[in-house]
Amino acid sequence: MKLKLSKYIIVSEPFYDGLDNKEKVVCFSTRFQNIYTFEIETYNFLCNGELNLLTKDLIKELIAAEILIPDSEDELNTIINRSNAALNDNKSLYYVIQPSAQCQLGCGYCGQTHRDAKIDDSIQQKILERIEEKLKKRKYNELSIGWFGGEPLSAFSSMRRLSNELILLSKKYNCNYTAKVITNGLALTLDKFKVIVNELKISNIEITIDGSDKYHDERRHTKNGSPTFNQIFKNLISISNSIENLNGSVNISVRCNVDRRNVDGVSDLLIILKEQKLQDKINFYCAPIHSWGNDAHKLSFTHQEYGDLEINWLMQMQKLGFRLNLFPNSKPIVCMTVEKDSEVIDAYGNYFSCTEIPYVDIYNNTEHVLGNVLNQSKKNTYRSYTNFHNDIIDDKFDCNKCPMLPVCGGSCPKQWYEGNIPCPSNKFNLGKKLLLHQLILRNEIIEELKKTVF
Ligand code: SF4
Ligand code: SF4
Repeated sequence: MKLKLSKYIIVSEPFYDGLDNKEKVVCFSTRFQNIYTFEIETYNFLCNGELNLLTKDLIKELIAAEILIPDSEDELNTIINRSNAALNDNKSLYYVIQPSAQCQLGCGYCGQTHRDAKIDDSIQQKILERIEEKLKKRKYNELSIGWFGGEPLSAFSSMRRLSNELILLSKKYNCNYTAKVITNGLALTLDKFKVIVNELKISNIEITIDGSDKYHDERRHTKNGSPTFNQIFKNLISISNSIENLNGSVNISVRCNVDRRNVDGVSDLLIILKEQKLQDKINFYCAPIHSWGNDAHKLSFTHQEYGDLEINWLMQMQKLGFRLNLFPNSKPIVCMTVEKDSEVIDAYGNYFSCTEIPYVDIYNNTEHVLGNVLNQSKKNTYRSYTNFHNDIIDDKFDCNKCPMLPVCGGSCPKQWYEGNIPCPSNKFNLGKKLLLHQLILRNEIIEELKKTVF
């Protein structure tokens, strides 16, 4: 069989390996998500199709890793077919519930309009009926709930009641139940955290902190301008320190939203987290600020600038002992918007197929509002972004030429259709991450060698 080099690989700049005096490159297969280090000569053989100069064992290994593939294969079709198959086979029903239209914070980049509305009993009942209908129609083995806002914890009693009912529902339909919450962290006291983990079965908690106090408070203040950093940070410390004493397992992530205004606060935040010994208790990551139906992205970095900054933060995190998550996983399903049944429901009972639509006024009365659980006579069965895979094949977006597609999935259909380019930082720095990974491995080897020699 004639073979060719897959186009779904990312390759680092060449580096000199002092351990065996060879020039090498590191290669990441986005189809199979594995890492190979090649001597530069071997890599050139692969690029030039001189496979007769490689050993049989290496060829076998590279076929298994989908780095070498049949010459006749149309790889874009393979990847899109895998995505379509994953959608057909998907056994996880995902719902995002936004139980409150209110949030205590007044972040400048937020695209939502907050109002004093919480999900009431009649809407809760209709949501349960709607989810049960979906569980009846199709065989799912997981019910997965994302609590999002406004600020979800400002409707805590509704979250509690609904969670208990949803857990019962998942049992009734033999489904595994999973849940996560994205919160500003201001009301996340230790007592609430314990209820969230033990009773509401939430296993992933994400808190946003936009840098050290000076930077965070400048943008994530309350609606009347009061600072929030100290309270959120106090909550973070107490919940992170209590993880070990809980029955259930829980992951706590801190996300730092970054643009030109708070970039200098990231490094300070990492140092403060380390001072509190949180570096191995939480997952930390940064995210660039994007348009939320508004102009928030205008103060963001270019993709390349952001990619370079991220490498600096990762190096600092490595030095400080944070967990590093350098490489992306397979992403056959880009997000809920392309799934058949998954939905977002807001506090008024409106339902949507994309998380960025609720509470954003420009989308009111548009096709993005699929219906309302209280009034099933007016509903829209058209989901805006379900043609995304076909549109990739039809060359509407750059994803059809991009080696990142198997691990990125196209990132965010909404952004593409609105004319923005949502490529993640990996597209701009994965080669550097491969080198960083090598550096870390080498340092570990050298440390091991030092232990044996001295
Ligand atoms: S389309 Fe974009 S914003 Fe909407 S759910 Fe998907 S990733 Fe999120
Ligand atoms: S969103 Fe960007 S990085 Fe992702 S597949 Fe499309 S072009 Fe590539």
